Amino acid sequence: MRFAFVVHPLSEQTKALLQWDEGGNLRRRWGGDLMEFCSYLHHQITQRSIAKQQLPSVRVIDELLGLVSSTGATAEGRLYEIPLDAEEILADPVHAMDYVAEATQMAADWGAEIVGLGSMTGVIGGQGTWLAERAPIAVTTGNSLTVYAALQNLHQVCAETDLDLKQAAVAVVGVPGSIAAAAAKVLAGQCGKLLLVARRPTARAEELAEQLGAELLFDIPHALARSTVVLSATSTGNCIDQHLLRSGSIVVDVAVPTDVRGSAALRHDVLFITGGLSRVPETMPLDSMFLGFHHGMIPSCLGETMVLALEQRAECYSLGRNLDAEKINHIGTLAAGHGFDFSRLYSFGQQIEPSTLIQYRKVAAQRRRKRLKTADKSTANGNRSEATANGHTSSRRVERPANGHANGKLGNGKAVSGRSPEQQPLGGAVNGQAGGDGEQHGMPSTTVAALSARAARLHERYINPVLIGVGGKNNFTKTFVRGEGNYVWDAAGRRYLDLVAGFGSLNLGHNHPRVVAAITAALAAQAPGFAQASVNPLAAALAERLADIAPRNLEMVFFANSGTETVEAALKLARIATGRAGLLHCEGSFHGKSLGSLSVTGNPNYQKPFGPLVPECKAVRFGDLEALERALASRQFAAFIVEPIQAEGGVIVPPEGYLREAQELCRASETLLIVDEVQTGMGRTGETFAVEHDGVEPDIMTLAKSLGGGLMPIGAMLCRRDLWHHAYGTLQTFALHTSTFGGGSLACAAGLAAIATLEEENLVQQARERGQQLLEGLSKICAECDLLREVRGRGLLLGLEFNPLPDTIVAHWRQMQSQGMGYFLVPQIDKLVESVPSMYAMQNLLNEFGIYTQVARSNPLVLRIQPPLTITHDEVDTVLAAIAEVCFELDHSNKIFDTIVVKSTLGEHTRASELPPLPAHTHPRKGSSGSRDHAEPVSAPRESAPKGSGRE
Ligand code: PMP
Repeated sequence: MRFAFVVHPLSEQTKALLQWDEGGNLRRRWGGDLMEFCSYLHHQITQRSIAKQQLPSVRVIDELLGLVSSTGATAEGRLYEIPLDAEEILADPVHAMDYVAEATQMAADWGAEIVGLGSMTGVIGGQGTWLAERAPIAVTTGNSLTVYAALQNLHQVCAETDLDLKQAAVAVVGVPGSIAAAAAKVLAGQCGKLLLVARRPTARAEELAEQLGAELLFDIPHALARSTVVLSATSTGNCIDQHLLRSGSIVVDVAVPTDVRGSAALRHDVLFITGGLSRVPETMPLDSMFLGFHHGMIPSCLGETMVLALEQRAECYSLGRNLDAEKINHIGTLAAGHGFDFSRLYSFGQQIEPSTLIQYRKVAAQRRRKRLKTADKSTANGNRSEATANGHTSSRRVERPANGHANGKLGNGKAVSGRSPEQQPLGGAVNGQAGGDGEQHGMPSTTVAALSARAARLHERYINPVLIGVGGKNNFTKTFVRGEGNYVWDAAGRRYLDLVAGFGSLNLGHNHPRVVAAITAALAAQAPGFAQASVNPLAAALAERLADIAPRNLEMVFFANSGTETVEAALKLARIATGRAGLLHCEGSFHGKSLGSLSVTGNPNYQKPFGPLVPECKAVRFGDLEALERALASRQFAAFIVEPIQAEGGVIVPPEGYLREAQELCRASETLLIVDEVQTGMGRTGETFAVEHDGVEPDIMTLAKSLGGGLMPIGAMLCRRDLWHHAYGTLQTFALHTSTFGGGSLACAAGLAAIATLEEENLVQQARERGQQLLEGLSKICAECDLLREVRGRGLLLGLEFNPLPDTIVAHWRQMQSQGMGYFLVPQIDKLVESVPSMYAMQNLLNEFGIYTQVARSNPLVLRIQPPLTITHDEVDTVLAAIAEVCFELDHSNKIFDTIVVKSTLGEHTRASELPPLPAHTHPRKGSSGSRDHAEPVSAPRESAPKGSGRE
């Protein structure tokens, strides 16, 4: 259905700008590329007369064509602009109404069946009723969805700040206006105290206050001084002075023009939210036609008009001063179903900055601490502290839920469907007690399920924005909420087969019952968590078990908490024991990221930014015995540190016999051999430790990852007894290297259970057998698929290397980078582009097949395949079928792309017959961007790729 939307320039300035903006080109560039915007503006200004021109009467300023919602519904619309700004409309509403009527007639002539009135055009003339009586088509002010969106925005900001609305004093400014009145009605049942603020006493305002049991005020500063949450929707604008707000206030400003004075926040202890905004569905174009709103953000009055058109409903929806609560809920639910999103917070027209929220939360936390202190004091003064059963004294703190609106019910009790997890119902039940004038920030819940809804956003805000930015956009950074055995689950309940297995820390799978039982038993026995400089029975027992299973000459154990700490311990031991300073390592190695282990990690990308590193570290080529011999001949090295297989470096297996020979060379030069088994240990390669394949006996060995049974962080450095004594065997030296948490009870209990499980469930042999099955299957696929270079590895530590994208495609990509910004922002972007095949495979396996893999960070062309050692025969078959399908399909489309790029570069015409044929056994998923069945995401085993098929 066609729709129209009437807008006006917001101010004299924007009106002036629009004079140069023929066809909306300027506005379309707004929010996109700043440089392009500026140069276009410059061009327009210099090319055209700067003298004020008479704006034409009503005109079409933009078209919204081909709108498709997430349900597949379609609509198209036009934006009509009347030539008056807000002040002019308020000064002469009759004149403005004539323009609106003219726009409506133009829209009807174009074929629109509904017209929405944007901002000021909607508040004049009796909320559109006047127009509706005369217009040839349906009319809506869009106010219902605006109210819905404003309240969703409010609930969202409460959730982001742990503010319990039920405890807060809320002022609604702008009653008895339709938006303010409707919002007040909903909020009356949800907040601690409701204050209504009107410009002057009117019968309507008084009636509303009485009906809601709210206090009616006529003085905005007075209301601001008594409230924490302010929802403002006046038609006059500029009535809220930022300086008068209480510290910790939240203002949701729904008004146009805005009620909060100024064009930016002047305080960090107050949050200003632009209310009533929504984001268009992902399926719609996100570029903007509105100054000040971009990245798909629109005012919800436009949203309502779009939703009605998508629904094919040419009906007058939001007219008059009394908006219907049912209709507000209804349009909100419809909008959510079409994919409109109300969870994004904007402030002064810009997406809210992470640090704005963080700073606000700090203020709120400080206030909470102060309040608790005051509560404690008054409790103590009243001598009312209570003794609990076990003798602890508890202060009378009331635990409050983070937000009480998440029960998925509307005020009318109907369940809401199609709503994003963050979306809050309008009239949802709110827990907690009614409070006074003060705000209450609750403590967030700590259950995994409750935390998952905001987790990605918080990760982006507080932990790593890049991981979420890149991975989130491409849908390969998931939030996992549960792990059991070989699978993890996301918050939506979708299951994924885990081939990453914690980069080697989940050899036993997730939450192995034996490890869980061991940790639970240690907890039940109240084993002391840490008791430094004393004897811990669990640590002592684990050291004994480790020595039992380690290579013959390793007898002494040092406990740490991570891989890198065990490497630090090993390097220090080597230096103190030999009196030499040099540390030899391999190019491409990975031993950790703390400064010492980074110094022996042969990856300049990781090292360079942190130099200067530990001196006297030198790298030799991995697998090159001659280079090793030459380096060792200097006899300056305390140790040579090496991985049996370079896992992080891209699963690189050294030549047969390398480790054994390296051991001989070390012995000959009196250099200690440190073998880093952090990733290869605990059965991963089909032996308990990878050194066993070669019968090597290192002087020092490092372990971590799966030693914790997949649940606890623990690392262990094992070494020869004589080395230990030489280094630490005196009263002066025995405590030279220690770790506060090393050898903690729970970690050691987990370690003991991990070793027992490995042995009793025969997991080492399992790794050998499933590894062989995987290796054979992948080798077969490799032999048939041009996309793949090779598969390598040992046991269940495998890497599938892809060929880089053809040069033609990389070059094509580079050309598409019109301004070269990508090159400026992303160093080595060619390398990144080259790695697209493996990234694509990773993304597809995840989203299409429910199989979780990762590429090697140091070599992103390698897909790491490293499942728990408990993976079954059938699961391996499933993995092989999925990898075959993904790889053959991508190979095919690459060839088509390559052919097209090459042919078009040569100016030739590509005929369909020139394209490579699609292999018979692949199933292109035409138009399927969605995922497979949620309940059973891992596809049933398919026929694996027949040898040599379809690629000739
Ligand atoms: N050594 C090796 C061989 C590793 O694979 C890793 C981690 N991938 C480390 C050391 C560092 O371990 P952590 O991340 O626990 O510090």
